[in-house]
Amino acid sequence: MSLTKYIFVTGGVTSSLGKGIISASLAKLLQARGYSVTIQKLDPYINVDPGTLNPYEHGECYVTEDGAETDLDLGHYERFINLPTSQANNVTTGRIYQNVINKERKGDYLGKTVQVIPHITDEIKRNIKLLGKKSNFDVVITEIGGTVGDIESLPYIEAVRQLKWDLGSQNSLFIHLTLVPYLSASGELKTKPTQHSVKVMLENGIQPDVLVLRTEHPLTSDVKKKVAQFCNVDIESVVKSIDVATIYEVPLLMKEEKLDVTVLRKLGLPENEEPKLEKWTQFINRLKNPKKEITIGLVGKYVELPDSYKSIMESFVHAGSINECKVNIKSIHSEKITDSNVSNKLEGIQGIIVAPGFGQRGVEGKISAVKYARENNIPFLGICLGMQCAVIEFARNVLKLSDADSAEMSRTTKNPVIDLMEEQKGVTEKGGTMRLGNYPCEIKSDSKVFEAYQTDKINERHRHRYEFNNDYLNKFEKAGMLATGHNPDTGLVEIVEIAEHRWFVGVQFHPEYKSTVVNPHPLFVNFVKEICNG
Ligand code: GLN
Repeated sequence: MSLTKYIFVTGGVTSSLGKGIISASLAKLLQARGYSVTIQKLDPYINVDPGTLNPYEHGECYVTEDGAETDLDLGHYERFINLPTSQANNVTTGRIYQNVINKERKGDYLGKTVQVIPHITDEIKRNIKLLGKKSNFDVVITEIGGTVGDIESLPYIEAVRQLKWDLGSQNSLFIHLTLVPYLSASGELKTKPTQHSVKVMLENGIQPDVLVLRTEHPLTSDVKKKVAQFCNVDIESVVKSIDVATIYEVPLLMKEEKLDVTVLRKLGLPENEEPKLEKWTQFINRLKNPKKEITIGLVGKYVELPDSYKSIMESFVHAGSINECKVNIKSIHSEKITDSNVSNKLEGIQGIIVAPGFGQRGVEGKISAVKYARENNIPFLGICLGMQCAVIEFARNVLKLSDADSAEMSRTTKNPVIDLMEEQKGVTEKGGTMRLGNYPCEIKSDSKVFEAYQTDKINERHRHRYEFNNDYLNKFEKAGMLATGHNPDTGLVEIVEIAEHRWFVGVQFHPEYKSTVVNPHPLFVNFVKEICNG
């Protein structure tokens, strides 16, 4: 098929309705019916990308293969459809304006007054269509961040309104998500917020084609009928999205509601075969019927907001399911850990993961947690800063370099066992300047990581400025901390292990970005397996 069809997903009434999960679930179903699909997120904030955002602001920053720092919804997209996304899958208002202003400075607008309409809306449209053209997808699902009615969403809504017209009938579709609240005092589900939200869409010139109603209680057919009647859609186009135990059940729920069938009908596309979801269903069955249960301590400084470590959390869901093991994650604030209370804080846990992060805050607590894992032979996984903390701890307590530190934390240490990468030395700008995205790594065969990956050549995603200082490599290896993975081009240490330890792995990269439902990440799988078998 040559013509790409476009689906636009908007949200009304409140934020956090799960537009990302609905978009990913629909994509999954269309993919399972044989269509090539990708999903895009348009974010209405002015940051050029979320890379400079504190996780408290916007949750985790997700990194794509091509090194784009993106919204965490892209993680959901990849976990659901098991295909990589790229820079083109996430566009912010900041990037749109930056592109337009750059064009203006180059004189591309030939003396015209540059305005929101048409120049900003044209740039939005260009970014949406670009993604469709990129790999000739059958369907592109574009999720518009924010809530309709917000001032900052307006140019996006106007752009997709125009796009529908540009693309011609049956080539695009609007899905609008709303909330149907339940008033316990009167025992009623309320449709008025949905009606008002659709009115806002209509004021902006858009009639939604499909309404997805988020609800905590089952919707009666009366409620569906009322919404259909007052919002000008047919009854099949009113889709119930009831709360479920895990986000991974949403595709099955949407299948029951025939969201995929309705969408294909409206786009004039054949239904093809029934969606093949055996692997998916198997995953959910295992998830819901675990044979064992373990608890892993996640040591990080952003633990108040679980979205900060979204991909790590989801990687454990995937690894738990394949091991038929319920993995409980106990979040422990690294700022609250000290050498003297660590055994208390980590009581009852069977594995320790030390999270990525930036800056001095909470680092000493992470180092105490590493020490506790190392000395007590507790399975340990350190990711990025977590790996760097493992190196610092080993240097201080085994190599007896008491002032060992990362140059990020101490500029004056005589033993910068973690040091700024050479290519980072002249870098002053913060946005998009880290070592980002996929880099190759070669693995030593006699190692825990080789056991996990079953190959000696891997590619993993990165997001860091500092690295293991190779001046110290000999000392570390002699004392038992081995570099079991390195970048073949630069020699940069990518993985450290302690050979004598039961399972102690630190990785400079972020394995969590690559774990998906059908391809759980081998490091998480083996980490969980080791704990389950222990
Ligand atoms: N702050 C560390 C660095 O820049 C680690 C980064 C991370 O954990 N993503 O190297």
